[in-house]
Amino acid sequence: MYDVAIIGAGITGTFIARELSRYELDIVILEKDNDISSGATKANTGIVHAGYDAKPNTKMAYFNVKGNPMFDKVCEELDVPFKRNGSLVVGFSEEDMETIEELYERGVKNGVPKLEIIDREKIKELEPNIGKDVVGALYAPTAGIISPWELAIALAENAMDNGAELYLNNEVKNIETTDSGYRIKTSEREIEAKYVINCAGVYADEISQMVGDSSFKITPRSGQYYLLDKAAGEMINTVIFQCPRKFGKGVVVSPTAHGNIIVGPDNEVVPNKEATETTGYRLRMVRETAQKSVEGIPFNKNITNFTGVRAEPDTGDFIIEESKVAKGFINVGGIKSPGLTSSPAIAEYVTGMVKDIAGGLEDKEDFNPKRKKVIRFAELSNEEKAELIKKDPSYGRIICRCETVTEGEIIDCINRNAGATTVDGVKRRTRAGFGRCQGGFCMPRVMEILARELNKDVTDIVKDGTDSYILTGETKEIENGEE
Ligand SMILES: Cc1cc2nc3c(=O)[nH]c(=O)nc-3n(C[C@H](O)[C@H](O)[C@H](O)COP(=O)(O)OP(=O)(O)OC[C@H]3O[C@@H](n4cnc5c(N)ncnc54)[C@H](O)[C@@H]3O)c2cc1C
Repeated sequence: MYDVAIIGAGITGTFIARELSRYELDIVILEKDNDISSGATKANTGIVHAGYDAKPNTKMAYFNVKGNPMFDKVCEELDVPFKRNGSLVVGFSEEDMETIEELYERGVKNGVPKLEIIDREKIKELEPNIGKDVVGALYAPTAGIISPWELAIALAENAMDNGAELYLNNEVKNIETTDSGYRIKTSEREIEAKYVINCAGVYADEISQMVGDSSFKITPRSGQYYLLDKAAGEMINTVIFQCPRKFGKGVVVSPTAHGNIIVGPDNEVVPNKEATETTGYRLRMVRETAQKSVEGIPFNKNITNFTGVRAEPDTGDFIIEESKVAKGFINVGGIKSPGLTSSPAIAEYVTGMVKDIAGGLEDKEDFNPKRKKVIRFAELSNEEKAELIKKDPSYGRIICRCETVTEGEIIDCINRNAGATTVDGVKRRTRAGFGRCQGGFCMPRVMEILARELNKDVTDIVKDGTDSYILTGETKEIENGEE
């Protein structure tokens, strides 16, 4: 029997697993898909928000402001790129400036440090390409940017290095109450655990219903994006918002942690929780809105579009509590934005809840907070590259030319705990396939390496989701004796 079963390997599930792995606990993470970070965590803006958006005295405000300063330490420990580049909420009119004043007041009430309302001249110093109609802005220097899936992968790896187990491809189908806790049936196995932590993103309401708790409902709301090539990356420095609209923070223009530019998202209710398609009319609206914030965004350098699905709770706030009808069953639901920013603080809080429910937890004396360093070949000096290749020639073979990713890096990302098993899993861990050609050249080579390292046939390698097969067989294969 496990002490704790965590359902869902997004940023909340992996953060909680890593926090709990500081203690003498048997932990298992159950994830329905074939990789970490398959839900909202892989498709969002990647902003570590300062904390002026959420209404004071909400859980969203509390965990956002508490979570923001926690990123420096955890990213240093886990070797995840993070940059505190600040954010602007830009205004175009007097009415917008009133909203900005309100956001400032709200931020101060929430405890956000160093907020400032600045005029166009100061904005121009920060952002020379700011839109011509921008008159003023709220400046929050504590906001930052991160690669959310890299953080989730690193957290899962570190939790596993410290003893946690991970079962991918295990969709939770049913949960029964037992004398000592819960029996969980997944698509592949049955496990028992004393405590369950429900971090199932848009499906958290359905998981909660499995133990008879229907206290909240999740509505999926999607947001669509452009991702521009690194060649456009130099044109802005900070995260640039417009004034918030009825739903959400509006369209953002932001650098990414890896030097691309991300533009989006919009915000619409969608008919189902897997609605990740992109649509022309919505992307056009995103493009037209963004062009007001920044002059001359080069949309001809767009390399891909994608959609993320938010878990909108009917309670209007995060749900982070032990179920009222199921003892030891903790719901972490409705974790919409600023969920990524809040995740370190949520993990700390949930760990405290487990400690209280269990009547105390024993420290793990050999807990190691550090993840083995990741070699990023492109960032090394020529001398370091030469030294590395001498030690391991696989670092001398460039597989992804757009992002300069070597075979050595790909082999390493497959063979770590919580390692890659799919083409997009390699992409999320190493950036192979993230560049301008979007894997057009390197995908076959990545597939070969995956097949070799995982001891699989190359036709069994999928792009991302479970059934996203790429190859079906040899081109000249003989079928029924005929060519
Ligand atoms: C468009 C968009 C933009 C956003 N921008 C930001 C931002 O800039 N900054 C910020 O702070 N936040 C942002 N957010 C919010 C942030 O992305 C989320 O709060 C966060 O990713 C939620 O993480 P999670 O782990 O709770 O959910 P998820 O990442 O969705 O993970 C849930 C996991 O549970 C798994 N699962 C579901 N059902 C089952 C089952 N039955 N059995 C097993 N596993 C299951 C899923 O496969 C998934 O992997 C944004 C969200 C969206 C959608």
